[in-house]
Amino acid sequence: MVGPIQGARISALPRRNTRFEADRLCSHPGCITKLSIYNRRDTCFAHAGFKIPRLRGRTRPQS
Ligand SMILES: [Zn+2]
Repeated sequence: MVGPIQGARISALPRRNTRFEADRLCSHPGCITKLSIYNRRDTCFAHAGFKIPRLRGRTRPQS
């Protein structure tokens, strides 16, 4: 015999999205880019020092 279908009771969402202080500006000198409240860095994307990770192979020796 198949019993009744059971499920979890509806409850509140676990947590809200992490947010940061609003109306922050990029910390790079002279940059007036406003940062998103979802951006956990203190610089904009252009000044974040983003580096492309090496996907495969060897790094080319610096000449
Ligand atoms: Zn910037």
